[in-house]
Amino acid sequence: MTEQLFEIKNLKKSFGNHLVLKDISFNVEKEEIISIIGSSGSGKSTLLRCLNLLEDPTDGEIIYQGNNILDPNFDLNHYRAKVGMVFQSFNLFNNLTVLNNCIVPQETVLKRDHELAKTTAIQNLESVGMEQFLEAKPSQLSGGQKQRVAIARAVSMDPDVLLFDEPTSALDPEMVDDVLNAMKKLTEIGLTMIIVSHEMQFVRDISNEILFMDEGVILEHGNPHEIFENPKEARTQDFLKRYL
Ligand code: ADP
Ligand code: MG
Repeated sequence: MTEQLFEIKNLKKSFGNHLVLKDISFNVEKEEIISIIGSSGSGKSTLLRCLNLLEDPTDGEIIYQGNNILDPNFDLNHYRAKVGMVFQSFNLFNNLTVLNNCIVPQETVLKRDHELAKTTAIQNLESVGMEQFLEAKPSQLSGGQKQRVAIARAVSMDPDVLLFDEPTSALDPEMVDDVLNAMKKLTEIGLTMIIVSHEMQFVRDISNEILFMDEGVILEHGNPHEIFENPKEARTQDFLKRYL
């Protein structure tokens, strides 16, 4: 029996009179891994940013565990803590050590006591292979190492879902696999993930469902086999050809 985490219904977002998300609807089950692929400018980041309310949707509904998060009475603080995001640009606190990057948000947002926050942080830093760097500052780390810290920090918040916006796009090629492997490991703890990525082999391996976005709509969706072996739409076929 699967449990629904999100229902996104007829979501629209415009900037001025530029309609960027045209009519987006999809569901996310608990523990599902959904990847969003598509050309630059198709609206992938805007969709993730609407889901965690970094952007205000213009129209439509985002139902999270049965409640519309756009309802004025909805408890946004709780929601924000439960929906984590990993950005292309890492967004670590540069003045804090690796360990404190993972501890401080747990203390301030979740009001966790220091010992539990520390144990949780160390455990998650071990899981991404960053346990030798607890006292390092972000400036001493490579991009791949920073991104693994960002993942450990996000997981330390006990999220219901983690959103990833091109987590490996800013990395040197030799760092990409370390980050992708850290993400694959998260599937073992049953985390729900929505991933924007251009790493097509990874997307194919990890996803239960793939959404192909084109000019603000989900033009096609399906499981990896359907999208990669049998894409129906010419635009999907053309897009995937670029990655062969
Ligand atoms: P993707 O992540 O697929 O590359 P984006 O969601 O970043 O696409 O952008 C989709 C479209 O929305 C683009 O045309 C972009 O210029 C526009 N856009 C995104 N953010 C803003 C913003 N804050 N203000 C105005 N236009 C924006
Ligand atoms: Mg983007």
